Amino acid sequence: MINPYKSAQEQLFNVGKILKLEPRIIDKLKSPKNIIKVDLKVKMDSGKIKTFKAFRSQHDDSRGPFKGGIRFHPNVTEDEVKALSMWMTWKCSVVGIPYGGAKGGVICNPKKMSQKEIERLARSYIRAISPNIGPWLDVPAPDVNTNPQIMAWMIDEYQKIQKEKRKSLKWSNLGVNPLATITGKPLELGGSQGRTEATGQGGVFILQNLAKKLKLKPKETTIAVQGFGNVGYWFAKLAYDLGYKIKALSDSQGGIIIENGSLNPEEVLEFKQKNGSLVNFKGAKKVSNEELLEIKVDILVPAALENVIDKSNVKKIKVKTIIELANGPITPQADKILHQRGIINIPDILANAGGVTVSYFEWVQNLQGYYWEKDEVGKKLKTIMDKAFEEFWDKYKELKVNPRMAAYAVAVERVKKAIKLKSS
Ligand code: GLU
Repeated sequence: MINPYKSAQEQLFNVGKILKLEPRIIDKLKSPKNIIKVDLKVKMDSGKIKTFKAFRSQHDDSRGPFKGGIRFHPNVTEDEVKALSMWMTWKCSVVGIPYGGAKGGVICNPKKMSQKEIERLARSYIRAISPNIGPWLDVPAPDVNTNPQIMAWMIDEYQKIQKEKRKSLKWSNLGVNPLATITGKPLELGGSQGRTEATGQGGVFILQNLAKKLKLKPKETTIAVQGFGNVGYWFAKLAYDLGYKIKALSDSQGGIIIENGSLNPEEVLEFKQKNGSLVNFKGAKKVSNEELLEIKVDILVPAALENVIDKSNVKKIKVKTIIELANGPITPQADKILHQRGIINIPDILANAGGVTVSYFEWVQNLQGYYWEKDEVGKKLKTIMDKAFEEFWDKYKELKVNPRMAAYAVAVERVKKAIKLKSS
């Protein structure tokens, strides 16, 4: 099993050579600034207390407060969370939003827990990391298996903690606007319009930019999406609305493929909600998650978990273009082979940055107390994604390195400048 933290460090060392980074900059960036590790004791419905290992990795805050989601997954490890926090630093930098990078994770299987158990776990996690988060310090958000409801419990817990502190310190105005401490909240609790679909929408803006560069026409362009959670679904739906042909879709249970025409993601979602899986969707053939990666389409979109394309299957990839909506879906070894084979992969830090960008809008709206219409959010997201894509593409053409290194060159250069401005 590839260790994502080793991959993340290798990527940094590689870009370090391209940018001729000083050793002190590499030393500062190669590991997180802080890592919080806690054992959460949570009461289960049976009455028993269960211990869950949990982490928050704060990688770098040179460009602004730490920012990044929290994932609930059985395969979470300390190294995975560290890697993901480093990727958040580059992600916020490549799209030019004023944050550093962080990530949280809890080792648990939410699919086997009741809603009440998940709520107690979420509240206990926030209590444990509460001294280390805040609007100007570290701003958590959703990630794999966490959603607006979980953010609602978390912000509620955080507000309770603020109240307790106010009481004990007899200080009525302690803590600035706790709402801006967590993003990805439901609309009713200070969330932003457009946050739910933001990562998929951002990915579609990237798709449109790429299609322009490669002269692809939507109606003649076929797409396969691995992962049918929030990100994969919204990407597929919004691409379908623009006329792209969705040939294959899958989730953790398996996938489907059609010969002619396009799958309609909305219909597939309805089917999944009724039947618990995509498999057996009318008119479609069954395909496994691994097979989906090897289908011959124009664009492949991994939108699930890390390391799905590695040296064992990279040679079987038949597409010309990959848009990485998952974090870390391609290992560094596979990256090299894709580049040698002339396959363009738009890296995760750019392709999936729509989510954190609308999180940034949510934070801004919370801090100013004035909320935008959905159109406004969409327009502002498009401006940021289009600009970031152009900057990335120029760098890719200039340096003639693989696309990930081009995006890293833009991102790491900005972080380096921030560090140097503080201590040259
Ligand atoms: N979890 C998302 C990501 O990996 C969003 C993070 C955020 O909104 O802070 O980009």
